[in-house]
Amino acid sequence: MKNLGGVKLPHNKNTANSETVDFGLPKTIVIPMAQAMGAVPNLFLKRDDKVLKGQIIGNADAFMSAPIHSPVSGDVIDISDYLNPNGSHCKAVTIRPDGLQTLFETVKPPEITDKKSFILAVRDSGLTGLGGAAFPTHVKFSYDETKTPIDTLIINGAECEPYITADNRCFLEDTDDIIDGIKLCMKYLNIKRCIISIEDNKAEAIALMREKTADMKAVEVKVLPSLYPQGAEKVIIYKSTGRIVMEGELPANAGVLVLNVSTVSFISKYCKTGIPLTSKRLTLDGSAIKKNRGNYNVLIGTPISELLEFGGAEDVKTILYGGPMMGVPLYSPEQPVLKSTNAILAFDTDISDSKNTGGVSACIRCGSCTRACPLNLLPMRFETAYKTKDAKMLKKLKLSLCMNCGCCSFACPAHRPLAEINQLAKDFLRNAKI
Ligand code: SF4
Ligand code: SF4
Repeated sequence: MKNLGGVKLPHNKNTANSETVDFGLPKTIVIPMAQAMGAVPNLFLKRDDKVLKGQIIGNADAFMSAPIHSPVSGDVIDISDYLNPNGSHCKAVTIRPDGLQTLFETVKPPEITDKKSFILAVRDSGLTGLGGAAFPTHVKFSYDETKTPIDTLIINGAECEPYITADNRCFLEDTDDIIDGIKLCMKYLNIKRCIISIEDNKAEAIALMREKTADMKAVEVKVLPSLYPQGAEKVIIYKSTGRIVMEGELPANAGVLVLNVSTVSFISKYCKTGIPLTSKRLTLDGSAIKKNRGNYNVLIGTPISELLEFGGAEDVKTILYGGPMMGVPLYSPEQPVLKSTNAILAFDTDISDSKNTGGVSACIRCGSCTRACPLNLLPMRFETAYKTKDAKMLKKLKLSLCMNCGCCSFACPAHRPLAEINQLAKDFLRNAKI
């Protein structure tokens, strides 16, 4: 991978100065079991059960999975089939909070003495990457040091998607937790060096982290130019260390572990309190939000409709989990906040509608899509190969490397939906059996 691509986007960080406020208890909580990569947890509850805050309500034996905990104390009022945004189904539980927020008896700080107990504690916390990837964090920690020694921890503070400012607020409000989380990870994972990588549009966060790490020789604050998709794992590794993650390899193969800043902050909080992952800091913004734009600490399972009502949403045409580049559209405002939700953006236009961008026209072979691609792929050739159902060519063009960042679509003067086509092509290739 060469460092040539990326696009400059309007930042729209409207809520960067908005201090995080507790959103409070919603009327009901809806918790789907499929919230992370890996095995889907089995739901342990049935209708009319009583639950307590922090109680495990779903888990799976598979290592590549993370338990799910109740964010509230209350009563189970429904068990239902839930349609995930990717079209799959899972069980979901609906809980009516009793308002007491009584903690479950096992909620207490974990005992950590070594790498094994640290990884176990991280699994028990239910933590999955809080930057949006939803990859179980304990799995990231379980690399084989003898085969892939890791010498560098990168704290991903790029937050390169427009509108989202939750990680910026994390830097400003959870500074000590970030430092403590870094120390825990370096100590128990035996990592000698840490780079905190932050885009240059977060001056306050950069200054604060420099001040807090001034006497930490092993920790460096690296300022990166604001360029989307700076926060993509392979991109931030290259920009922070100059190392390249080769095709089919993991960051560990390049001696690097990447953690989102909110993830590392949560690890510290969990080790101090034992309160599992049951709430999220998220940004509420977008053109359809008419009041109360800002950052909120929201219980996982809170229906998005309650956030929209609070935000005085009007004429909503598009709701996104996450940012406008890689965010996932909601099919219903009754979908809940998930572990991976770092923003809810509501717009009064259909942002996927080509009419809003002047309509799709024929490819003019300008090459802008390739120049914008951070991985130097050839998006216009993906489109042709997909349309002719040429699986061999898609493979040869290394479609599997595409991370669906959307830079190609954004850069295309003909408004061709290249990133969307890449997704369809990936589905086609998965089923092509070559
Ligand atoms: S969506 Fe894929 S092909 Fe398009 S710019 Fe991003 S990585 Fe490259
Ligand atoms: S940017 Fe659009 S018009 Fe230009 S080569 Fe790529 S697909 Fe064609």
